[in-house]
Amino acid sequence: MVKTQIADEGIKDAATLKAMRKVPRHLFVPENLKSQAYWDMPLPIGFEQTISQPYMVAYMTAAIRPAKGMKVLEIGTGSGYQAAVLAEIVDSVFTIEIVEPLGKQSTALLKKLGYKNIFVKIGDGFAGWPEHGPFDAIVVTAAAAEIPPPLFAQLKEGGQMVIPLGKPGSVQTLVLATKEKGKIVKKNLLPVRFVPFVRE
Ligand code: SAH
Repeated sequence: MVKTQIADEGIKDAATLKAMRKVPRHLFVPENLKSQAYWDMPLPIGFEQTISQPYMVAYMTAAIRPAKGMKVLEIGTGSGYQAAVLAEIVDSVFTIEIVEPLGKQSTALLKKLGYKNIFVKIGDGFAGWPEHGPFDAIVVTAAAAEIPPPLFAQLKEGGQMVIPLGKPGSVQTLVLATKEKGKIVKKNLLPVRFVPFVRE
């Protein structure tokens, strides 16, 4: 999976490739879809949500230039897979999921897998997690109309946020937003399709 779908497709970040090789994706997908866990596609995880395509997880991980020592916030825990990939590289991952049973399920799985540097909260990620901010980077895995201001406020100066922006149910744009002198500097990365960022 990592060679043909990710490295050969242009993802060069060594830490990302190493993390993608390490995290057992089949443990993050439903039992009946295990045989498809390493396919080049997103998969349903219940509650109308999906685990992103492996390439997308790698792309978003590499986009924030992950490194040791970083504290990262993720919005949309889902299966917990993206959080696990990040946690292989950075110091700590704070992740928020709005669908309670999904949040509970991924909390249990991540604990079982021994991740001590991932902290899951159930709730609306729009507000972020100010008690633990500011963050070096923020990864949003659900499509929003615009960057939630509280999230941008919790980004460190020079920090980066990767977020799909656009209408739910259509093609959105994956955007890399950098905080430069307190202002948002946006760069469009690629067209994507994500589940909607919902509000409580
Ligand atoms: N990162 C996940 C992908 C999950 S899909 C993975 O690796 O599996 C996006 C997730 O965002 C869904 O689980 C959805 O319930 C969640 N979500 C949508 N709106 C949200 C919000 N406002 N706050 C927190 N989570 C949200």
